[in-house]
Amino acid sequence: MRMKTTYIHGGISHDEATGSVNVPIHQTSTYKQEKVGVHKGYEYSRTGNPTRAALEMLIADMEGGVRGFAFASGSAGTHTIFSLFSKGDHIIVGDDVYGGTYRLMDKILKRLGLTFTIVDTSKIELVEKAIQKQTKAIFLETPTNPLLKITDIAAVAKIAKKHQLISIVDNTFATPYHQKPLELGASIVLHSASKYLGGHSDVVAGLVTTNDDKLAEELGFLQNAIGGILGPQDSWIIQRGIKTLAIRMDAHEANAKKIVQYLDKHPQVAKVYYPGLASHPGHEIAKKQTTGFGGMISFELVEGFSAKAFVEKLTLITLAESLGAVESLIEIPALMTHGSIPKEERLKSGIKDELIRLSVGIEDVEDLIEDLDMGFSHVQNQ
Ligand code: PLP
Repeated sequence: MRMKTTYIHGGISHDEATGSVNVPIHQTSTYKQEKVGVHKGYEYSRTGNPTRAALEMLIADMEGGVRGFAFASGSAGTHTIFSLFSKGDHIIVGDDVYGGTYRLMDKILKRLGLTFTIVDTSKIELVEKAIQKQTKAIFLETPTNPLLKITDIAAVAKIAKKHQLISIVDNTFATPYHQKPLELGASIVLHSASKYLGGHSDVVAGLVTTNDDKLAEELGFLQNAIGGILGPQDSWIIQRGIKTLAIRMDAHEANAKKIVQYLDKHPQVAKVYYPGLASHPGHEIAKKQTTGFGGMISFELVEGFSAKAFVEKLTLITLAESLGAVESLIEIPALMTHGSIPKEERLKSGIKDELIRLSVGIEDVEDLIEDLDMGFSHVQNQ
């Protein structure tokens, strides 16, 4: 089955019992047993639910995993992955990960005895240097949130294999439509499915998959033991979103490319971050490991122009956290999504206070550019 077909027919895409072309929403917490221990494969919905199972098989099919796991949020998925490790274990983490991932490490997992070294994983030589005796894993995003830095997944996976480490890739920004970390050698893939996979800003969800049988078994145990599972309604909505992932990603990218061209020559824009730009330091690696550059753009205004005034003036592009939806969303990472990272750490990784992150939607791009134009004219008059 080819990729676009998998999105529609992968996993369990229909109901054998009734012929329903969509998977039913099994709104149940438990399952009748014919005799003690004799059942149809489901005992209790934290452990397994047929609607969730269909989504879990789908993400495994999409990413080339052996098993998938659906969580109540991307963060719940991240927490479950980090629960593979024990007190004293050391993990190398990319320097530009989602603010909530940083907060999870800094405020909770450190307290439980895990140790972390933050590294710019786009500089591959720094990754191997950071390995210690207790290192167990490398966790990274590519492209990163919000600076869109690119890490060579195959190169990191090679280092990880050499040192028997688990390599974990947050593939939220690229989606499996553009990037397949497991095929590039990574051990585990994570998604905030609240973003492109769901695609409509209507569900918070997380998906995890792996192509390693042992890790799959451990993750399955942890998912059930910790219990941060996705409910059947939300599992169904994410499956519906995934059916249109391919056409949405093509539309996001086509719009993003036009907006990048517009921003790149705008006199009030100091810098544009987009891996599709030939001037982007990760451009060649992005070309090698992805089939598209996606719909996320970050940019900085020329000094003296207020990012806050700009985003607040926009009327069509919505000022909101989150990304990856049909509607365009804009935000200031330092004040919003990445506010939980101390300013000093943020600046060290290059996230300036005036940085703006734009998740380009699939509206008519001319309307989006008109809205940006209106925003720029407003800050000009400040
Ligand atoms: N990973 C990335 C790259 C994200 O952008 C986010 C949320 O913004 C998360 C993980 C966390 O996902 P969730 O908000 O679904 O918990």
